[in-house]
Amino acid sequence: MFPAPIQKLISHFQKLPGIGPRQAAKFAMRLTKMTDSELKFMAQDISTLKSFVGECKECFMLFDKPNSGILLCQFCRNPERDKNKICVVVNDNDALSIEKTKNFDGVYHVLGGHVSLLDKEENRNLNLIGLKNRIKKETEVILALNANAEGQATIMYLEKFLEGLNHKTSRLAQGMSTGSEIEYADDQTLINALKHRR
Ligand SMILES: [Zn+2]
Repeated sequence: MFPAPIQKLISHFQKLPGIGPRQAAKFAMRLTKMTDSELKFMAQDISTLKSFVGECKECFMLFDKPNSGILLCQFCRNPERDKNKICVVVNDNDALSIEKTKNFDGVYHVLGGHVSLLDKEENRNLNLIGLKNRIKKETEVILALNANAEGQATIMYLEKFLEGLNHKTSRLAQGMSTGSEIEYADDQTLINALKHRR
């Protein structure tokens, strides 16, 4: 049995996605090798995290929150961005990958996960209603989802879910090889997939 303080850390780390007891123990042991000031800064950053990170009330993306009065992310706040072009992504990472290409001038919508066709209960945690509320007739919805089974299931669901709400729903062209993920696609592949969306 590990000493109690280590055991406590292990149970904290196990709350992270994909971290099992062995990995969690490794992290906890590694912390014991760090200096007091390193640990202090880490603890400080964790404890103040929620005060300085906001979730955009429009697109659900996380953003730097200098003060509590700001409710929108840098994209939704920016008057230069085309609010009639909404790029739907699974997570913040995918939005940032698309943003990095500098080839998209619209705004994003973070679903928070893939739509499950089997487990309806799980879909409750997704930002689906928020998406519906943002869409007007003139909105183009771009479904930027991965070219794998989960992504395709989500596309199928969303096309039905949004039916009749807007004039145009497009998806990224399948320039990316089947099974590839937006997060790992190179910039040129993403630029082509955006340009040839249909
Ligand atoms: Zn936003």
